[in-house]
Amino acid sequence: MQSGFTKFCCFLCLWDSRATEHHYVRKEWQSRTQYEPGQQNVSAEPLVNPQDIFLPPLHIKLGLIKNFVKALNREGPAFQYLVKLFPKLSYAKIKEGIFVGPDIRKLMADKEFTKCLTPDEAAAWASFQNIVHHFLGNHKSPNFEEIIGDMLENYRKIGARMSLKMHFLHSHLDFFPENLGDTSDEQGERLHQDLANIERRYQGFWDEGMMSDYCWTLIRETDTKQYKRQSPTNLHF
Ligand SMILES: [Zn+2]
Repeated sequence: MQSGFTKFCCFLCLWDSRATEHHYVRKEWQSRTQYEPGQQNVSAEPLVNPQDIFLPPLHIKLGLIKNFVKALNREGPAFQYLVKLFPKLSYAKIKEGIFVGPDIRKLMADKEFTKCLTPDEAAAWASFQNIVHHFLGNHKSPNFEEIIGDMLENYRKIGARMSLKMHFLHSHLDFFPENLGDTSDEQGERLHQDLANIERRYQGFWDEGMMSDYCWTLIRETDTKQYKRQSPTNLHF
């Protein structure tokens, strides 16, 4: 549902992602009650109960850094600093704010970056780091609602467009499971690492083959793990 500029891209409500004048202002939207393909931007029947969908913290983080970087002035010192700090990332990826977990950790540990930011940008950056530590990390602070409110306000100030992930934080905080911090970013990080390797192999010539290639690496790996768990006498190749 998220691809392109889909109008109703939230699986929980009928948030209008294009009605930018309502973003940051209107919190409540009509709940989504039907999932009929062809209506309200539903393209296929849900595979699982939408209420059972889990919102992975890593992807919320990636979404938030994307919005932050996209709001930076491309001629400004902060954006130029990013280009220098990530020489292996293409300009297009930096421009679109496409970072993975290790990039975020690198940037958060970098003291120089903050110095390149305007006061409003610095506030938004501090908010991002706060969310990572106090909501999306291993520990959920008691005042997380306040921290999220501040973050949204700071993002609004730098002119960041509200994304689906920000909408989840704005309108569906009660949907986040209590145990959010207990899940690790490991799986998501692995996916990005594997895809980066495959991307390199395909050198931009992406097709359906790339996806099946990825699936086969998973299957092969699962097989290897299963064999490892068995005692050597049980192995019959
Ligand atoms: Zn929604």
